Amino acid sequence: MLSYQHGYHAGNPADVHKHGLLAFMLSYMVSKDKPLTYIETHAGRALYDLEDAAARKTGEAAQGIARLAGCFGADHPYAQVLEQTRAQHGATAYPGSPLIAATLLRPDDRLHLAELHPQEYEALDFAMSAHGGKCYRQDGFALAQSLCPPTPRRGVILIDPSYEIKSDYTDIPRRIGLMHRAWNVGVICLWYPLLRNGSHAPMLEALARAHPEALRHEVAFPPARPGHGMIGSGLFVINPPYGTRQEAERLSRCFAARTGGTT
Ligand code: SAM
Repeated sequence: MLSYQHGYHAGNPADVHKHGLLAFMLSYMVSKDKPLTYIETHAGRALYDLEDAAARKTGEAAQGIARLAGCFGADHPYAQVLEQTRAQHGATAYPGSPLIAATLLRPDDRLHLAELHPQEYEALDFAMSAHGGKCYRQDGFALAQSLCPPTPRRGVILIDPSYEIKSDYTDIPRRIGLMHRAWNVGVICLWYPLLRNGSHAPMLEALARAHPEALRHEVAFPPARPGHGMIGSGLFVINPPYGTRQEAERLSRCFAARTGGTT
């Protein structure tokens, strides 16, 4: 039984890290003339309101997008998607990763979005109805495996689990290995939390051993609440598009300056 709902965390520093780099990578990829596939294994509801009851309860966006928006100039694709989302849905709207992808992709590109939670799926399907994209109420790992290699063959998989199922940490290296074997040119992007107790570390060591060329990028920030276990955000990217490493380094500097965190 899934209980995680991303609305409590939308726009927090981890979202800004993940969404900023995702937008950068997609924007680079759509600058080429060939169509692409975007697959998301853990989509969430795609559109959030930072003033709704869930977001106000945690207030996490105050340390996230409210503090870090200045890391992105007006011409950055993440800033542009945020602006478009707010023009369409109101000043406190915030785009989840499926909406970021849908806003940046072109009519010939393909989106496949998996979400298991019944209410989150319903909201996702509704939010995406105006943007295209196929939504699946099924396990995202199984969906991604069944689609690899996709058509079009260029593209990105975003894997953004809630890590509610603790076996995710041990299963992910194997699952990513299978996806990469089936689709060796695909950009495979995993988000993970930096945890105070280090329980994410063995997963990262296994991934780094299997994919030594991949980009591993981490930003640290203060916990959302005293004693909270998450103290940073990580992205592990196989086949990162050109320029992603430099963009990640730029974000490291800006996060460190604005949050006081260092990695
Ligand atoms: N990627 C979204 C974004 O950045 O806007 C946030 C996704 S949230 C961190 C993770 C989502 O995965 C939750 O909505 C949860 O219900 C869903 N989920 C958990 N396990 C899943 C699975 N095995 N397959 C598909 N969705 C799953």
